[in-house]
Amino acid sequence: MEEVKCYMPETLEEALEIKSRVNAIVLAGGSDLMVSNKRTIGLTPVFDRPVMIVRNLPELKKIYINDKGECCIGSGCTSAEIAASKLCPWHLRQAANRMGAIGLRNSATIGGNIANASPKGDTPGPLYLLDARVKLQSIHGTREVPVADFIVKFKTIDLHEDEMITEVIVPYSEKDFDYVFWHKVGTRKANAISKITVSMALKFNADDTVKDFRLSATATGSKTNRSRDVENIIIGKKISTELIEEVVQAYDKVISPRAMPEFRREATRRMIRRFFGECARHAEGKVIETYDGYRMPGAIEL
Ligand SMILES: Cc1cc2nc3c(=O)[nH]c(=O)nc-3n(C[C@H](O)[C@H](O)[C@H](O)COP(=O)(O)OP(=O)(O)OC[C@H]3O[C@@H](n4cnc5c(N)ncnc54)[C@H](O)[C@@H]3O)c2cc1C
Repeated sequence: MEEVKCYMPETLEEALEIKSRVNAIVLAGGSDLMVSNKRTIGLTPVFDRPVMIVRNLPELKKIYINDKGECCIGSGCTSAEIAASKLCPWHLRQAANRMGAIGLRNSATIGGNIANASPKGDTPGPLYLLDARVKLQSIHGTREVPVADFIVKFKTIDLHEDEMITEVIVPYSEKDFDYVFWHKVGTRKANAISKITVSMALKFNADDTVKDFRLSATATGSKTNRSRDVENIIIGKKISTELIEEVVQAYDKVISPRAMPEFRREATRRMIRRFFGECARHAEGKVIETYDGYRMPGAIEL
């Protein structure tokens, strides 16, 4: 049997020292790594470098609000922990609550979901929408990078060899908007990798012009898509059918022509029209849509 050298640090400081010394592969929940390194049935996965298990480091398990009012989530927090935490923003809790199935949600971490850099990953949608940043730490120091820049493209991230993601910082939440929307299209009730997931948020000024509008979509290109140019079409103006159609047409172009574009464009067009239609009518309550039409077994009541 091939041996894998495995480290189990007890503190973040120890983990960063090991990372710097042996460039170990960081293993959090292992739900991506164990699959990507798997061999045939009956054989253990192979790793070409030592592995460092970090999921129980106490420094990576905290969720708190910092002195700027931003939600800070330790990179080792699982989807189940994020879904259950009322401190976490609504869009992110929706995404975390509908990832994989119950077992997966108890092991998959937010750090792993971001570092995996899959365009179909569920947490980047809300994180792009809410201008989230990752905190990256090494023995040499700390830096913060917007998630939208950290994920460079498919399976490519801006992480130095000696660094780890230690925290995800989310400056906005549903409290900053009048209406919110999140919808994941998948083929099954559980273990459904996203066909497309759309997150939206909208805030009005007192005179009914749009103060802020945001839209992000996963699985629409080599990484999650968000375009401030498209959002700006409607910001500062009153919602009208013509403007909604302008947004719809402009967002069509954001969706990659290689990503089953007709299906994804049509799905997005319908969601955008439905969202603005409801907002313009000033629907009761601020949640326009969630996954509720498609209840997933084991998802908690949010
Ligand atoms: C059956 C199944 C269903 C799934 N369903 C979904 C789904 O619905 N939605 C979805 O988005 N994903 C899904 N996934 C993918 C996967 O579960 C997620 O991407 C998960 O969040 C990965 O987290 P992890 O902790 O398991 O990562 P790991 O497998 O431990 O690591 C993944 C990558 O991230 C790196 N990494 C982890 N933590 C850190 C850190 N702190 N600093 C630096 N690098 C780090 C690792 O080195 C590795 O490269 C599914 C996977 C499976 C097997």
